[in-house]
Amino acid sequence: MKLDITLFGALPFRRISKTAKRQRRTHLKKTAPTVTTCSNCGAVVAPHRACTKCGYYKGKEAIKVSKEETK
Ligand SMILES: [Zn+2]
Repeated sequence: MKLDITLFGALPFRRISKTAKRQRRTHLKKTAPTVTTCSNCGAVVAPHRACTKCGYYKGKEAIKVSKEETK
């Protein structure tokens, strides 16, 4: 019986060794999330987003933040 190679699709020629896999992944690292501080209230906020504490963005109130949501 002849095996039909097209059934398996494209596969790696051989298994990547533990060492080769780990050496490749030495460049993959988790990075700390980039944060900035709000210019209005000084809270730590994500960049290019309105402040979640006071709703300010670029010196203006961009969104309304209700007191129930901030608790
Ligand atoms: Zn703020």
